[in-house]
Amino acid sequence: MDGVVSLLAGLPLAAVLVGEDARIVAANAAAREMLGQAIEGRHFLTAMRQPDLRAAIEATAEDGTARSITYQTAKDGRDSTFRAHVARVAAPPGARGVLVSFEDLTEREQAAQMRRDFVANVSHELRTPLTALLGFIETLQGPARHDEAAIDRFLAIMAREAARMERLVHDLLSLSRVEGEERVRPREPVDLGAVMGTVVTMLRPLARERGCALRFEPGPACLVPGNADQLQQVFTNLVENAIKYGGDDNEVEITLGAHPDAATLRGPAIAATVRDRGPGIDPLHIPRLTERFYRVDTHRSREMGGTGLGLAIVKHIVNRHRGRMRIASRPGEGSSFSVILPRWER
Ligand code: ADP
Repeated sequence: MDGVVSLLAGLPLAAVLVGEDARIVAANAAAREMLGQAIEGRHFLTAMRQPDLRAAIEATAEDGTARSITYQTAKDGRDSTFRAHVARVAAPPGARGVLVSFEDLTEREQAAQMRRDFVANVSHELRTPLTALLGFIETLQGPARHDEAAIDRFLAIMAREAARMERLVHDLLSLSRVEGEERVRPREPVDLGAVMGTVVTMLRPLARERGCALRFEPGPACLVPGNADQLQQVFTNLVENAIKYGGDDNEVEITLGAHPDAATLRGPAIAATVRDRGPGIDPLHIPRLTERFYRVDTHRSREMGGTGLGLAIVKHIVNRHRGRMRIASRPGEGSSFSVILPRWER
């Protein structure tokens, strides 16, 4: 039997051999982890309760035909999907029985579901402005053909909708680029103070337009290993959100300095925080804000020209920089978005 044990131990999948007497002859560590530590010697029905799996093992023991079945289980409160391969074997010598190996498809299924949701979301986001554009084109070709006031008004709306589509495509491309590069750690020294200065200069007109005071005191250089363009994108998104969602009489304050807790990134770190005085975010939403297309208020986000991708892009760039993001907010008291990055060390 040692031959079987070492054969199963060498497999990358959870695997058990069910003997001709229907007892489990051997199981590798992954199978014991999945089905129970003390399954060897037990009748297979006591270890494998899934009806389709039991039926497949019995049928293969009977007719010798190999089978694959896919089934769902709820383990530790989460749904998992497995594919079990069931085959009759007669090797090594003396080890006759049915070999059952298990492939955990849960992550693959989840990834496929995420892909389907993503495509559905993108299609929906693109269809909304596209439907508006097509509607206005039809009106301009028909009833409003000679109505100059209507033409001006409709063209303005069409320009806004086309700009929305352009922003969405731009953000989708950014997201796909940063996701593609996530494993490659950027290593150029970047001064976060200089990046922040550029962001503040670029967003000051928007802040002024919205009646928002934007505060940032440049201090000593804060160097981090990074990619300057991507870090600029991170803080542009955060400061723009703080201005957009900060409500009336808003103040946005940006602070930059050493992060006090060396344990956060297992080493010296810099924290950059963008704080607003807006209505804040219900704690219920905070863990989901960095999901693609997740918005607290879709109507408001659209009104502000949002794509729902800004914080997803931020999260991926911060991950690429081996940093952390912290979001803190209390309804009525504003929000703060912090990015903690490893400090540059020679
Ligand atoms: P959007 O394009 O909608 O702004 P983001 O990914 O940048 O997408 O943000 C996701 C959502 O998080 C926003 O729709 C908004 O509901 C919420 N949010 C982001 N920043 C803030 C903030 N400073 N204050 C309140 N809500 C915010």
